[in-house]
Amino acid sequence: MPRGKLMLPALLLCLLLCACGKAAERSVGFFAMDTYMSVRAVGADEETLAGCRSLAEELEAKLSVTDADSEIAALNAAGRGILSPETAELLRRALALCGETEGALDVTVYPVVRAWGFTAGAYRVPTSEELTQLLQAVDYRGVEITGEGSVLLPPGVELDLGSVAKGYAGDRLCAYLREKGVKSAILDLGGNVQALGGKADGSPWRVGIRDPDGDGMLGVVSIRDEAAVTSGGYERFFTDAEGRVWWHIIDPETGYPARNGLLSVTVVGPEGLRCDALSTALFIMGQEKAEAFWRADRGFELALVTEDGVLRLTPGLYTRFEPAKDLRCTLEVIPDA
Ligand code: ADP
Ligand code: MG
Repeated sequence: MPRGKLMLPALLLCLLLCACGKAAERSVGFFAMDTYMSVRAVGADEETLAGCRSLAEELEAKLSVTDADSEIAALNAAGRGILSPETAELLRRALALCGETEGALDVTVYPVVRAWGFTAGAYRVPTSEELTQLLQAVDYRGVEITGEGSVLLPPGVELDLGSVAKGYAGDRLCAYLREKGVKSAILDLGGNVQALGGKADGSPWRVGIRDPDGDGMLGVVSIRDEAAVTSGGYERFFTDAEGRVWWHIIDPETGYPARNGLLSVTVVGPEGLRCDALSTALFIMGQEKAEAFWRADRGFELALVTEDGVLRLTPGLYTRFEPAKDLRCTLEVIPDA
């Protein structure tokens, strides 16, 4: 066979292999922000993936309430301080979301969360007197922050950005990957899932929604350039000596774990931070208020699982939800008026 004829297929094969190599999917997994995180990215090199880990660790080092060296822990200890521009901006955004959710989300609920032992894993049921006492210092409206990032906390007030930190990390990681030229990735940050673009073949990413009442899945939603964030009592909880179950999402009105008829709330939307804040807040609000909040906003999609076994989806989520074959919940669409 003439040499030229052999060269062409060889060249094509080479081009094909190069193209495949470029689009190869790589993944990395690591522990950060008190959870296991994984990133699967198409066309990212090892260095970019290592950068994801460093970025998550950097954010944890700034935001962790338990790491005494973090900006937040230092602020809590001193009652005042100057935050880095990034942490200041996150706190401003978080405070705005506390306002928007009328205090269902309250980043000053930390002393109560700690009293229940959720910070250290030393679980206990505080007395109602203790909770009443601790609630006196719970009010995000007392937090003062200047344009320069100088923060003043009223006496006894302590901040915890745990309800929004993973969502924010998702936004930061996606922006970082995009900067590195990655167009397709899926991030799992301890139950917070965030997609950059769609899959390499152009189809959307498919994300399972966990059954809060068992080990399985309720079904799968399709997402593209979106986050899907779930908050639920099943994520972190303990059972006391009397068999009562207490979880880590606290109603700032009462100081007790929020028990307003919901087992889990999933929020799907373009921004991880907002989805994370809203999943926590809407879980606290309960079905009626959560659905009213969605109707007034419409900037996100919502899936609620109620204590009586009903899965309620916004119309926009219903059309891209594929129920599990063994789904035990009743499926309902949330009326949009
Ligand atoms: P997870 O971090 O487990 O995914 P969430 O995003 O729902 O869950 O955040 C729960 C965490 O937020 C709790 O562990 C606690 O630190 C904190 N938290 C609990 N209740 C509230 C609240 N009402 N407002 C703000 N943060 C809260
Ligand atoms: Mg949250």
